[in-house]
Amino acid sequence: MLTVNEIFYSIQGESTRAGRPCVFVRLTACDLRCSWCDTSYAFHEGARRSLDDVLADVDRYRCSLVEITGGEPLLQDDVYPLMERLLARGRTVMLETGGHRPITRVPKAVVKIVDVKCPGSGEADRNEWRNLDALQPHDEVKFVIRDRADYEFARDVVGRYDLPSRSAAVLLSPVHGVLEPRLLSEWMLADGMAARLQLQLHKYIWPPDTRGV
Ligand code: SF4
Repeated sequence: MLTVNEIFYSIQGESTRAGRPCVFVRLTACDLRCSWCDTSYAFHEGARRSLDDVLADVDRYRCSLVEITGGEPLLQDDVYPLMERLLARGRTVMLETGGHRPITRVPKAVVKIVDVKCPGSGEADRNEWRNLDALQPHDEVKFVIRDRADYEFARDVVGRYDLPSRSAAVLLSPVHGVLEPRLLSEWMLADGMAARLQLQLHKYIWPPDTRGV
């Protein structure tokens, strides 16, 4: 059983797969409280559903790309059989995780998008640094950047862990409506950052607070 906040079909707004149609499975609950969190409705809202029921819902969309997100999806033990069963159906499975829970049990074929929390989130002391040693070449690492201090923190971590050589992409995502993408772009260009600017595409397609997109 899983506690599921929502299952929906939309345009992938983040990661190197941004722009692709994708089915999202958003699981309920998170043990962090990032200052800029845009999915706080997933902290408590949700319904208990069987794996079979969740899979049947995902199957309705006939979409090859599926993302499991939250909340924090690794809080629920049945997320592991869910990922296995989606892979067995031939889906490309992405997992978006806050980066504070170990990723070692995640099936190897799953593309993990692993956050590193910056100081502006208020949760930087919760980072599980060993996750950066468990990355596979197809995984991606995401930093949400609120201000210059967050950017400098991210720049330091990217260099210290040599993240560009350990992952498929390093994503720098400005907090929507707080940090101008232009400013972050200029900082990245000035430093020649081996990273990718990530704008949350869905917030440009639909009003930023729209749910289920
Ligand atoms: S980890 Fe994700 S869901 Fe949890 S508080 Fe942070 S942004 Fe929100």
